[in-house]
Amino acid sequence: MKKTPENIYPIFDRLLQREAKEKMLNQKAKALWLTGLSGSGKSTIAQKLEAMLYQKGFYTQVLDGDNIRSGLNNNLGFSVEDRQENIRRIAEVSKLFVNCGMVTINCFISPTKSIRDFAKNIIGEDDFVEIYINAPFEVCEDRDVKGLYKKARAGEIKNFTGLDSPYEAPEQPALEIRTNESTVEEAAQLIFDYITPLLVKS
Ligand code: ADP
Repeated sequence: MKKTPENIYPIFDRLLQREAKEKMLNQKAKALWLTGLSGSGKSTIAQKLEAMLYQKGFYTQVLDGDNIRSGLNNNLGFSVEDRQENIRRIAEVSKLFVNCGMVTINCFISPTKSIRDFAKNIIGEDDFVEIYINAPFEVCEDRDVKGLYKKARAGEIKNFTGLDSPYEAPEQPALEIRTNESTVEEAAQLIFDYITPLLVKS
């Protein structure tokens, strides 16, 4: 059980409930958690997937690493503690959206099983859908979308995931997408086909 801080009296049970909001939006809420190396394709797929879901009338919110770090989490760095706090806030925000009946598409490297489990525990197991965006390190380095691999190789970035900081692949993701074997459209379609039956209100 989570401990409630002293002098804090949450009123969760007195607020309009998620069920009512899902009914209004005519969908079931979920948090899609896209994990994978930098450059594996999380953000690109999220953009495409969001457009596809929008076309079908689903309400979504993309939560993306650099966007969050430029706003809500702009006071956090990349120490172990700050990475943990980064994910804690993101998971709490994702949970707020889910309780609002929305579908969140979360794009975070989230390199370790423990950090993903941490997010899953905050969001809730039933609402958390882990999706492994898998591309070999060499492919991500070759793409080098943001020039980060080059900087990491030059020693300008320390603790870079996949280079001098580990990436632990999910053991049992709900879905694994190999982006070196698919187009962006195909990758987004695979997730769309998997997720939409879970979003349809019975
Ligand atoms: P991430 O968000 O995981 O750091 P990005 O989405 O920013 O990764 O970058 C992924 C890059 O890989 C983009 O330049 C994208 O066009 C390219 N790419 C090639 N094939 C795919 C695919 N099947 N799915 C997603 N991205 C792909």
